[in-house]
Amino acid sequence: SKAKLFDQDQKVKTSFKDVAGLEGAKEEIQEIVDFLKSPDRYTSLGGKIPKGALLVGPPGTGKTLLAKAVAGEANVPFFSLSGSDFVEMFVGVGASRVRDLFKQAQQKAPSIIFIDEIDAVGRARGKSNMTGGNDERENTLNQLLTEMDGFGTDTNVIVIAATNRADVLDKALLRAGRFDRQIYVDLPNLTERAEIFKVHIKPIKLHKDVDLEFLSQQTPGFSGADIANLCNEAALIAARKGKKAVHHQDFLDAVDRIVGGLEKKNKIIT
Ligand code: ATP
Repeated sequence: SKAKLFDQDQKVKTSFKDVAGLEGAKEEIQEIVDFLKSPDRYTSLGGKIPKGALLVGPPGTGKTLLAKAVAGEANVPFFSLSGSDFVEMFVGVGASRVRDLFKQAQQKAPSIIFIDEIDAVGRARGKSNMTGGNDERENTLNQLLTEMDGFGTDTNVIVIAATNRADVLDKALLRAGRFDRQIYVDLPNLTERAEIFKVHIKPIKLHKDVDLEFLSQQTPGFSGADIANLCNEAALIAARKGKKAVHHQDFLDAVDRIVGGLEKKNKIIT
């Protein structure tokens, strides 16, 4: 069977209200929503609509969520693939996949292309890695640059890419007319964590003793993904104990479990 080339979502349901915190990033990326919704307003004054934006920030902070919300807000199709998918590709497949992706996105324009983990393909060229396969990665990167240069500013396809390593990217990617806008997506602060909790406790049956303010204070360094995971763990812990609602203690137990998991993960890395 033929492997799936990329994902596409024609009817995106995600909107900015699903993205808690990240007010600055949302404000910056609102521009792209506006471009997609009414390009003429911009081009009529002679302006060129940007082709790409790069979301930069640690894992799990909502980069994919934010990109998807742009598609949802603008009501346009969302095409996505992950740079790491290219790494194990057979020769020639990466470049042709990029070509297909851009072709499809242009046919469905206005649209969004989202490339997660762009550093996997977009690392500076000419610095060989130990695993080899560099030529294939370079071919894929070159194809990506070709596609971005190839479509005119009137195409109405905007490419959003995400990375947690902007420093390793090939400078060619950051040049004007490519990913010339960078938007920072940071770990949430105390207030933002409280907002993320509010999003993720929605489906959960809470006991009235749950203190979200306290939980937000107990979770410094947690990403949005960690908080989502925490809420789910708390519900599972409560269910295992046969409870009718999720109590404050279940959240605390889940914090311990997740902090333990994070510590283990860090030990493996270092
Ligand atoms: P990675 O770099 O690992 O791909 P990412 O920055 O793209 O991570 P997402 O995949 O968007 O992160 O986040 C994973 C999940 O974590 C989301 O689907 C959502 O459930 C939750 N999440 C992350 N950030 C937020 C946020 N700001 N508001 C609400 N939920 C969030």
